Amino acid sequence: METSIAFVLLFSLLAVSSVAEKFDFFYLVQQWPGSFCDTRQGCCFPDTGKPAAEFGIHGLWPNYAKCGRGRGEELASAVLGEDDVAFFSGAVGRRGKCWPEFCDDGNALSLWEVRDLVASLNRNWPTLSCKSGRSFEFWSYEWKKHGTCSNLAQHDYFARALAIKAAYNLTAILAGAGIVPSDTATYSLSSVRDAIAQGTGFTANLECNRDADGNAQLFQVYQCVDRQGKKLIDCPLSMPTKCSSDQLKLPLF
Ligand code: 5GP
Repeated sequence: METSIAFVLLFSLLAVSSVAEKFDFFYLVQQWPGSFCDTRQGCCFPDTGKPAAEFGIHGLWPNYAKCGRGRGEELASAVLGEDDVAFFSGAVGRRGKCWPEFCDDGNALSLWEVRDLVASLNRNWPTLSCKSGRSFEFWSYEWKKHGTCSNLAQHDYFARALAIKAAYNLTAILAGAGIVPSDTATYSLSSVRDAIAQGTGFTANLECNRDADGNAQLFQVYQCVDRQGKKLIDCPLSMPTKCSSDQLKLPLF
């Protein structure tokens, strides 16, 4: 009897450990719709109508803290602790990847699983791509590419992303620092970075793109989140901003 209980326990431990994905933190990536739409490529509104003029979720992405060599590792251990980084990134860092992706192609997003979140997802995670206009396709892709590596169930994955977005309203935080959408004003990269650090209590990474005239503009904000998808942390890695100048636009939407 005891042997069979021990066997069952050992078996379940092995099963769990072989399924759990190892990663260090999440990026919650939010996009400014004005900067998605005013590029040469343009955008389309989803079938639910024009989204609000506020940051929208792009995705919640599991990431390794040890990506490449050198400085990143030191930064990562300072934020996450030596042991965590050594354990979670050791194996994967060597394979040279910066994040896990497409961890379970058999696990497609089910609308039924997230049915109580759909209204909030439509508001906070709308698609702007011209592919189909159906935000569910965007959520499904994000789930398949990133969510299946998150160690979270479908409902938790989406609910946690929504909860963090709601807890830190980036649009309001920037507005509080005088950084408001405008077709003429420009803002320094450091003022945007400082406003987010002050307003949320944590450093984030920023990404720029260019409008159709080639002007640099704030495109996406990458907030760093713990492995449970619950709490913000300082970003363990800095990443290239792709901001070609120090002065950025935040275009009207
Ligand atoms: P990822 O950046 O997560 O690897 O891929 C994003 C995918 O979602 C792309 O294939 C893109 O075309 C699609 N997509 C659909 N709607 C949106 C949107 O509003 N913003 C972005 N960035 N990608 C979108």
